[in-house]
Amino acid sequence: MEKLYEGKAKEVYSTEKSNEYIIRYKDDATAGNGEKKATIAGKGELNLAITTAIFEMLEEKGIKTHYIETLNNRDMRVKKVTILPLEVIVRNISAGSFAKRFGVEEGIVFSKPTFELSYKNDELGDPLMCEDHAIALGLVTKAEYDFLKDTTLEINELLKKFFEQINLKLVDFKIEYGKTDDGEIILADEISPDTCRLWDKDTNKKFDKDIFRRDLGDLIEGYKEVLNRMRG
Ligand code: UDP
Repeated sequence: MEKLYEGKAKEVYSTEKSNEYIIRYKDDATAGNGEKKATIAGKGELNLAITTAIFEMLEEKGIKTHYIETLNNRDMRVKKVTILPLEVIVRNISAGSFAKRFGVEEGIVFSKPTFELSYKNDELGDPLMCEDHAIALGLVTKAEYDFLKDTTLEINELLKKFFEQINLKLVDFKIEYGKTDDGEIILADEISPDTCRLWDKDTNKKFDKDIFRRDLGDLIEGYKEVLNRMRG
């Protein structure tokens, strides 16, 4: 295996198969575009287990993902894709950068989910981007944009139900898509408490990366609780 890429939370390796990669989940955590950094033992393993269960659920519901199989407590075998430089974000409840940008409190329940894109570019601070901008820059075609929006809102409905069953509110989440060599766009990256905001349905206690971003306590305890609830 040759390491092809190292990101903030994961490493990507080539495999014996030219159309498959292995993704290794790391214990590193970053926030604020890399301004805050830590290594949190056990985080990679928890995010891998949570992402595995979510990708398996989504595949069962007909969403195409890069997931093939999880090999051990660190590594996931995936289809090789080229990641689109877009952070695709859905919000059901105000929080984070939305609350900050518009000067509103967190916790406003929206009558309809919001769909937004950011340009994945650390140097520029991942700027918010609208449909026309993504098309103008040649990142997606109009048809691809429509596919991303429809698929993402469908994923939101599936995830909302999934988390509701374990007494968690899906506040917002970020996903990434990739393109296969055949030009097909499929869900890639991860779906975990690093990339979703999850609040307890009754108490609004946070079970996501805000524990780290805002120093709210033990992140591992929070992520373990999510996985335990998922495992019933
Ligand atoms: N998010 C992410 N990676 C990013 C930016 C955001 O996973 O680089 C997730 C974040 O965890 C939250 C959602 O996307 O669930 C919306 O994040 P927001 O725009 O509020 O940004 P934040 O203030 O959390 O950086």
